[in-house]
Amino acid sequence: MEQLIKHPPWCRRVNCSTTGRHASLPLQADNADDLIGIEVTLVQLDAQGLTLVRPDAQPLTLVELSFTEDGVTTTFTVPERQVRTLEGVLNQLVNA
Ligand SMILES: [Zn+2]
Repeated sequence: MEQLIKHPPWCRRVNCSTTGRHASLPLQADNADDLIGIEVTLVQLDAQGLTLVRPDAQPLTLVELSFTEDGVTTTFTVPERQVRTLEGVLNQLVNA
């Protein structure tokens, strides 16, 4: 059944049909000596899951940003569009 699902190219194809979402491999965005661990995962809700919200909804790509400090992890799920805005703002600030 899993192979009949259309996965985004970045999907790691693990339990997509049961979880109702596609997920990439998580990427680490920190160095060994950083105080805060950051992990980034690309996710996409499948169309069936979205029909619970909007019948005409397109697959929604989201970014999960997980921050770990002192063993406590907090995850924020942010729409891709907002992540691109954040990327631009951070780029402006860092390169100012
Ligand atoms: Zn998938």
